Amino acid sequence: MDAVKRNILLNPGPSTTTDTVKYAQVTPDICPREKEFGGLMKGLREDLVRIVHGDLEKYTSVLFCGSGTINMDICLNSLLPAEKKILVINNGAYSTRGVEICEFYGLPHINLQFPVDQLPDLQIVEETLQKNPDIGLVYTTHNETGTGILNPIREIGALVHQYGATFVVDTTSTYAMRPIHIEEDNVDFLMASAQKGLMAFTGLSFIVGNKSIIEASKDYPKRSYYCNLYLQYEFFEKTGEMHFTPPVQTIYATLQALKEYWAEGEEAKWARHTRVFNAICKGLDELGFRQVIRPEWRSGLVASAIYPDDENWDFETVHDYCYDRGFTIYPGKISTTNTFRLCALGAIDESDITDFFKVFREALEKSGVVVPVKYAE
Ligand SMILES: *Cc1c(COP(=O)(O)O)cnc(C)c1O
Repeated sequence: MDAVKRNILLNPGPSTTTDTVKYAQVTPDICPREKEFGGLMKGLREDLVRIVHGDLEKYTSVLFCGSGTINMDICLNSLLPAEKKILVINNGAYSTRGVEICEFYGLPHINLQFPVDQLPDLQIVEETLQKNPDIGLVYTTHNETGTGILNPIREIGALVHQYGATFVVDTTSTYAMRPIHIEEDNVDFLMASAQKGLMAFTGLSFIVGNKSIIEASKDYPKRSYYCNLYLQYEFFEKTGEMHFTPPVQTIYATLQALKEYWAEGEEAKWARHTRVFNAICKGLDELGFRQVIRPEWRSGLVASAIYPDDENWDFETVHDYCYDRGFTIYPGKISTTNTFRLCALGAIDESDITDFFKVFREALEKSGVVVPVKYAE
């Protein structure tokens, strides 16, 4: 097996993968309707539930072919009973995408907005639930990848359940990184994609959730054919397979990634991501960069740094310098502040961040940015 050029991806996914995961895609051609392939799916689905410590009697996982947004679409359009509405607890770009999905399907919803650098006010969340007994589904994002703020899902979930609604959380940028316990965290449905925490490839997305709610959703209004949760679940239960063609090579890579996940272990993996994140914060601090999210609210996976006030600062120039040397940095996702992001996911470690900051500092110096960087106020 030849080594593939190793790039350090500091964007919020897809992430840097191991060569063993890359090469796991190279397999003999196979029709996914063969028993040999179908048989791989059962263990995969169970592993995806085990990662969030779900009881296999109570929780299941349903796989789809698509990028992560497909999960958001599916949960929102499939899990809303007739006559009910959705509450989106929104403090960032990904929950805003959830709101857009509600708008596209014409789903009745409340967009409960909070500033992007603030946690949702739980008192307002509770008042909203109290005043609107027709809320059937509450939706939020765990780690708002646009900023890196971590939302208190356990506390929100307790409120949601107190008011008898279903709780859906977009955990795409925490799953298989930050430990999650689906039941103790009061979550009914969560989601992710193979290219993020699992360190495999784009094309396989999955929803982990409560079986009895999926079964109840059989009678909910149907709003999509390809993206319906019950339909896909039922097909899996009957045949063990995806309804339509699965992303075969991505599934082989994900199976290898899962082997590597269990070998590394939940705690050790989270410790590694934390090491990487701390090294990112230290590097940014040393260069004088400010971050958008205060330290105690950070997810520990995404650092969102504010552009310095220096006429020589140019994100594209710095990006290109780093990119040519094997490091990818990423623009921010806040409409009101100019930011860039450095993320701690993927098969990378502290030494990669040390190497990155050497190149990043050079990029700043070569473009004439004063280091440590300055802010007008
Ligand atoms: C990456 C991500 C998604 C999915 O984005 P795609 O581009 O569709 O893969 C969804 N939610 C969050 C929080 C994410 O970080």
